[in-house]
Amino acid sequence: MDIMNKKITKVVVIGSGIMGSRIACHFANIGVEVLLLDILNPNNEEIKESIFLRNKIVNESLKNTLKSKPSPIYSKKFINRIRTGNLTDDIAKISEADWIIEAIIENLEIKKTLFNNIEKYRKKNSIISSNTSGIPINQMIEGRSDDFCKNFCGTHFFNPPRYLKLLEIIPSKKSNPDLINFLMNYGEKFLGKKTVLCKDTPAFIANRIGIAGIASLFNIIKEIDLSIEEIDTLTGTIIGRPKSATFRTCDLVGLDTLNNVAKGVYENCSNDENRNIFNLPSFIEKMINNNWLGDKTKQGFYKKTKDKNGKRKILSLDLSSISYSEKKKVKFEVIGKAKKIKNLKDRFNVLISGNDKASNFYKKMFGMMFSYVSNRVPEISNDIYKIDDAMKAGFGWEIGPFEIWDSIGINKGIDLIKRENLTIPKWLEKKTNLDSFYNIKDGNKQFYEIAENRKSDVPVLNKFILLNNLRSKNVLWKNDGVSVFDIGDGVLNIEFHTKMNSIGEDVINGVQKGIEIAEKNYRGIVIGNQGAHFSAGADISMIFTLAVEQEYKKLDLAIKTFQDTSMLIRYSSIPIVVAPHGFTFGGGCEFTLHADAVQCAAETYMGLVELGVGLIPGGGGTKEMALRASDAYYEGDIELPRLKEYFLNIGQAKVSTSGQEAFELGYLRKGIDCISINTEKQIQDAKEKVILLDNSGYTKPIRRKDIKVLGNQALGMFIVGADSFKEGNYITEHEKLMSEKLAHVLCGGNLSSPTIVSEQYLLDLEREAFLSLCGEEKTLERIKYMLEKGKPLRN
Ligand code: NAD
Repeated sequence: MDIMNKKITKVVVIGSGIMGSRIACHFANIGVEVLLLDILNPNNEEIKESIFLRNKIVNESLKNTLKSKPSPIYSKKFINRIRTGNLTDDIAKISEADWIIEAIIENLEIKKTLFNNIEKYRKKNSIISSNTSGIPINQMIEGRSDDFCKNFCGTHFFNPPRYLKLLEIIPSKKSNPDLINFLMNYGEKFLGKKTVLCKDTPAFIANRIGIAGIASLFNIIKEIDLSIEEIDTLTGTIIGRPKSATFRTCDLVGLDTLNNVAKGVYENCSNDENRNIFNLPSFIEKMINNNWLGDKTKQGFYKKTKDKNGKRKILSLDLSSISYSEKKKVKFEVIGKAKKIKNLKDRFNVLISGNDKASNFYKKMFGMMFSYVSNRVPEISNDIYKIDDAMKAGFGWEIGPFEIWDSIGINKGIDLIKRENLTIPKWLEKKTNLDSFYNIKDGNKQFYEIAENRKSDVPVLNKFILLNNLRSKNVLWKNDGVSVFDIGDGVLNIEFHTKMNSIGEDVINGVQKGIEIAEKNYRGIVIGNQGAHFSAGADISMIFTLAVEQEYKKLDLAIKTFQDTSMLIRYSSIPIVVAPHGFTFGGGCEFTLHADAVQCAAETYMGLVELGVGLIPGGGGTKEMALRASDAYYEGDIELPRLKEYFLNIGQAKVSTSGQEAFELGYLRKGIDCISINTEKQIQDAKEKVILLDNSGYTKPIRRKDIKVLGNQALGMFIVGADSFKEGNYITEHEKLMSEKLAHVLCGGNLSSPTIVSEQYLLDLEREAFLSLCGEEKTLERIKYMLEKGKPLRN
């Protein structure tokens, strides 16, 4: 069979440690049958006693992984896709596998022994790959057959494999190029990864660059006299990197792992002009000797403790005395300035503009980074975009090193390298007239192709729509909260771009405007964005102001407009597909519930969370759940349990931990809504769905008047339930009130028997309940608390 058409249905993962068990879960996530193997339980007594204890190592490892947070598995239901076994009893079962992934201890000899064993049992043409972080792939195939070598390569997942997007693919000299193409495509399409093709160089791309960056800070920290918390402030979200920044990241990864990778690079990269940075300073050795390895030993650069009153306290390590002291608040003027700049790209020039400690730190750090990455071309990659892709997907950086360099300016970046007396690579020395590493042409991202000395399109495996690339030419209409894009083939995309994509007046106007434009001239609409989150919900500051000022008429109008907009999404004359990802809370969830179809990301955290701010869903969400319960009754579902389930979802502000769980909570509908495993592809998938709906003869739906509500009998049961929860002190008086209001809407109000009602009837009830809660002191306290502290108050 042509390898490009190969189907992966059974995977064997060998090694059930941190990586192996999580890789197994991710394959289970995407519907693949997995056999997870590890060594036989070495305790002879135990295995004599019980045959079940033979798998103790793998079973305990998987159990711990499944308990870990954030969860490695989309849904508990998927756990049964993983079987376990041991390498003594079950090795022959690898003959059934389409792909065997090795994720055992990082030791070449042990890995080679395992490959020798695999060779005896695997079926011809099955894929074998190693998850090694740094052992050369070419050394692993010594002594192996031709068929093994052809079908073998490195597949380097990042921890945690469900969440970190990078998958590095490393061919050996003997890997079949078709296998590599297949895996590049499979990783992107099925595993949802950013696949980056790497050369077989130590630590491949992301760890080589990432650990060089961390190690260089280890080396200069004393020189520049900054504390670890100061460096973490300077290297975190302010420059588009995860909150864990530098030292917190080290604690998460583990200092021993970090040291091993650094050692590997030091020993194997004698030509690296900056090799010495990988020889980590003595404080690392001391920390490792003390077993201060980070989170896994409960202390590293940081240590969590409690003060004498039992309050949580975080200590940080002082590197000169190797002792812990209380973490101090950090303040830098330049950070304050940069924070005000919304567009990340525009921050870098501000950060390096001053002469204070922070700006000098940045000049040094970027100078070193630019020199290091540019000197790695062509050693680790011929193309700059692979380095940026790997850093973004593997280390969670919003912006890659060459992209940062572009935003500072190429020549200014070269000056920073010179300032540190570091090496400028030959390919760059001669290119003084190069104006940028990247640009956008005709909606495509282009990169500077060094060998050709020209800009070329960044190659793509699958068709993607990246809104940023279309921003300059395809925006038809825009206000401060929304841009309406023409994304081709007669389809529009409505993008939100407010803070956390919250929904206020601008977004409401934008959605209505987008629908108006599409109804005249287009086939349909995608509502989606490529920000960090789809939407954190309605803008509650406006609700708060109107409620405090007791402007109830205006408030009523605002909520009515929200409801009408949700209904417009459902009842327009064109198909509308909503594409949520990340936070999809409150109003964001309500818009999603009203789509003709949803194309959600695998990582969608969706829920009607309004009770957290003292309200019930008022943008059509409560009505919609009553409607869905009614539809389930018509399909033969038992009435009360279904309604109760929805009541509890809203009452407990339940949020799905994945797109899959959003189905299980009833927010998404089987057979209508779908999941995009690769977030980058989501808008493209949603657009295709719009076209499909349009092609299959979409007609404007008819407003529903056939909703069965259960009336007083059900309402009474909910009220009794809420009462007993209050009595048992599980909920507060205010929560009891909110539960009653919620139940009132879900049951259709004060009706003596089950009745058939219209959507508008329920929307009016919903609005009335929402408004009445806006008049409650305790609701205002909740909203105020959320606005000030960013978390819910229970009162
Ligand atoms: P781990 O120590 O958590 O797990 C290793 C597993 O190997 C254990 O379950 C152990 O029982 C098993 N093992 C030990 N000796 C064995 C033998 N002789 N035969 C078969 N199995 C044996 O390690 P890990 O962190 O999961 O790393 C596994 C691989 O993945 C390594 O190659 C590592 O370099 C790589 N990796 C690790 C990370 C990470 O962040 N931890 C990231 C990417 C790649």
